[in-house]
Amino acid sequence: MTFPLDTVISLLEEEVRGLQVPVVDLIATQTKDPFKVLVATILSARTKDEVTAAAARRLFARALTPEELATLSVTELEELIYPVGFFRNKAKYLSQLPKALATHFQGKVPSTIEELVTLPGVGRKTANLVRAVAFSLPAICVDTHVHRIMNIWGYVQTTTPLQTEMALREKLPQQYWLRINSLLVAFGQAVCRPIAPHCDVCRIKPFCPQLGVIPRKQRKESPLMPSAQHGQCFVSWNVNGLRAALGKGFLEMTGTFNADIVALQEIKAHSSQLPQKALETLTRQGYQQFWHPAEKKGYAGTAVLSKTAPLQVHYGIGASDIDREGRVLTLEFSDYYLINAYFPNAQPGLRRMDFKQAFNQAMLVYLNGLRQEKTVVLCGDLNVAHKEIDLARPKENRMNPGFSDEERAWMDTLLEAGYVDTFRKFCADPGQYTWWSYRSAARERNIGWRIDYFVVDETSSSRVVDAAIHSNIFGSDHCPVSIRFV
Ligand code: SF4
Repeated sequence: MTFPLDTVISLLEEEVRGLQVPVVDLIATQTKDPFKVLVATILSARTKDEVTAAAARRLFARALTPEELATLSVTELEELIYPVGFFRNKAKYLSQLPKALATHFQGKVPSTIEELVTLPGVGRKTANLVRAVAFSLPAICVDTHVHRIMNIWGYVQTTTPLQTEMALREKLPQQYWLRINSLLVAFGQAVCRPIAPHCDVCRIKPFCPQLGVIPRKQRKESPLMPSAQHGQCFVSWNVNGLRAALGKGFLEMTGTFNADIVALQEIKAHSSQLPQKALETLTRQGYQQFWHPAEKKGYAGTAVLSKTAPLQVHYGIGASDIDREGRVLTLEFSDYYLINAYFPNAQPGLRRMDFKQAFNQAMLVYLNGLRQEKTVVLCGDLNVAHKEIDLARPKENRMNPGFSDEERAWMDTLLEAGYVDTFRKFCADPGQYTWWSYRSAARERNIGWRIDYFVVDETSSSRVVDAAIHSNIFGSDHCPVSIRFV
């Protein structure tokens, strides 16, 4: 069947009417100034729209022209645009921009792709976007959404965005060139998402061959907004470096979830290494902060953000080899313990298996001790996929770290000792993962592992009224997991 592009695009026009306009389009509705469109487009790469919009507002309040931009130092630029993704690189590019424009283009933003890509921080995607949005000239801006969705539809069969751009230049009617990016970005963010697209509510479904797609499973709503629901919201997230995550929307996540507790693993930083502004933002969001970094810089470590003051905080479990890696942080509340743990990785060749097994045993003793007193909520990166259903490629990974018989046997022991894997209480579906390798577009293809958990003692399991995996939250190779707790 030929893909009915005209029909699909008119359906998409209706579909995106109520959706958020991509930020660069939003700026273009307010101004056609190519300089502002260019700057906003540079800021927007790998950054959430709301973060880009706020950073652009702050920057334009200080610099509306290349000349004004030239008066700002790199440090000032970093401060103004933080926390957009890669803010340090972008600040550097922005500081070089006025000179590049003055030297080669008489201080004006050029309009051809070939000229635009010579500017600092401007790749082909940015160049196409600026040409289309600022100059209303024919350009097809192919980002990951356009590339992905066009291939899902079978409209092109390509493996890179550049190939998609070239194929679309041949095939896509020119009347759609300017519009296609905005349509598919809005649609790709809201409906046809990279992971678990919402095919069940998609108006394009009758025409879509869904090539290579694993649609979301329909289940009850995730506990995103605790104020609207029952109980407290606890979130756990291995951020794989908090400083990096801060540049990738971490504070937007804490602001949006508005969770009661956020437990972090692999923070890889001491609090003194974190930007003061970020810590102040967390305080403004209502979080008391408890840090348990590893002694070794840039390695492991845990932290807990809590809206309620705990009765006590326990740093470690009293075992020096474990505690020096900052792996366990416990907050005691009146009727429960929250234990945030970053379990060791057994490492390739299982060379750290002895340490991991010792950690596992020590943890079980620790949990059993605490549960004598009150409810135990263990969360964190347990660094093990328990069953075959918990990873995409069980056969290929048998005896690899995280899926070795020994590690899986310890999970059996934990559950047999009277603890509950809360996510499986609510969802028995396959394809539910919390970690994806950065390699081979594993996350886009949902080739993942479920290794992040909330576990509670079984006598308290009725206190967990929902559990969710938030695979649509980026910023780390893990995604957050959460429970609602009463
Ligand atoms: S049916 Fe699914 S895969 Fe196809 S466009 Fe809609 S959301 Fe995307």
